[in-house]
Formats: sequence, C-alpha cells, structure tokens
Amino acid sequence: MERLIVGHKRFLAEVFPGLRSQFHLLAESQAPEWLFITCSDSRVVPDLFLGTGPGDMFITRNAGNVVPVTGQDVDGVTATIEYAVEVLKVKHAILCGHSDCGALKAALDHKSLEGLPKAKRWLSHVESAFAYRQPLNPADGESAELASLIRGNVVAQLKNLQAQPTVVREVGLGKLTVRGWYYDILTGRIEEYDEGMGRFAPLVG
Ligand SMILES: [Zn+2]
Repeated sequence: MERLIVGHKRFLAEVFPGLRSQFHLLAESQAPEWLFITCSDSRVVPDLFLGTGPGDMFITRNAGNVVPVTGQDVDGVTATIEYAVEVLKVKHAILCGHSDCGALKAALDHKSLEGLPKAKRWLSHVESAFAYRQPLNPADGESAELASLIRGNVVAQLKNLQAQPTVVREVGLGKLTVRGWYYDILTGRIEEYDEGMGRFAPLVG
C-alpha cells in the first residue's frame, strides 16, 4: 500500500494543482464523448495510449471485454451502456480487446478455470468468439492462434454491443458510432475492425 500512499501524496502536491481549474469544471457534471468498453487487464491503460484524461471517457471494464447478450438479467455492462448512451449522450462507443488476453486463453484451455465457478460462468460469454475467429497473422508469432481468437471476441462483443436497443436507435439516428479495436501490448498499436471488409486494419499508418 505504501506505493499508493506515496503516489497519492505526489498527485496532491505535483499533479492536482495544475489540473485544479479542470477538476473545478468537472466537479458537478461530466460530458464524456466516448464510451470505452475494455478488459480489466492491468496492461491496458486507455488514457496512456489515447492521450485522454479526466472527463473524456466513460469506461466499463470486465474480464474479456464482454457485452452480455441482452436477456432478462441485468448486468453492470449493459446498464452502463444504457446510461452512457441515454443520459450522457456519448458520440462514440468503442469496444477494445487486447493481445495476450487471459479470458480468451481460458476459452482455449478450460482447465485453467477449474475452481473458479464465477469466472467460468462469466467467460461462457466469450465462447461466441470462436464463430468470428480472424485469419492468423504471422506478425503475432507464436501467439497467432490466441490473437485470432481475441480479434474474434472483439467482433462477437461488438455485435452484442450493436444489438443493445439504445445503441440500435442512436446509431440509426446517426448520433452514435460503434467501433471494435484490438490493442497490442507489445507494440502499443491499435487495429480497428472494418465491418465492410470484415477484417482488422491499423488505426494509424
Ligand atoms: Zn483481457
């Protein structure tokens, strides 16, 4: 814990003073432009690789960047999506998976979930990734099979996101765009899913 205490002291002394006016504006309201849905993985730090900061993104994270299929059950992800779209009026919703994702590793090796009943049940949501597996990319090296499944999961969860009633309506009105990304931890690069082409391509050249 000591490291966090030291970090917080440094924030109060060195960072917050420079952001005081920004936080003053944000203290009682927010108007984020983006809804960002990603994995809980500690190596995925959106503000770091996108240059965003306080007030910019409404973020929901879970193991495997899952958007559960709409059903009778209420869950934190779809409730967050509904709030972001209906109330905050975000302009873009981004579903971001990442390389070396443990959730998809588990989908390939079910034994790793033995003794983890809740994780096992939650990760049944990523099984749909197998139906959308992407072509193997030699650049992914020994992780090519896993990476193709992770990209497939981005496509699967993107479809679940696009099926949310509020998302369907706002996209239809031209007020919301929905995107699927794959973030590579090793290179720091993002790929975006091109629905028309049915494949991933670098976000920037
Ligand atoms: Zn992950």
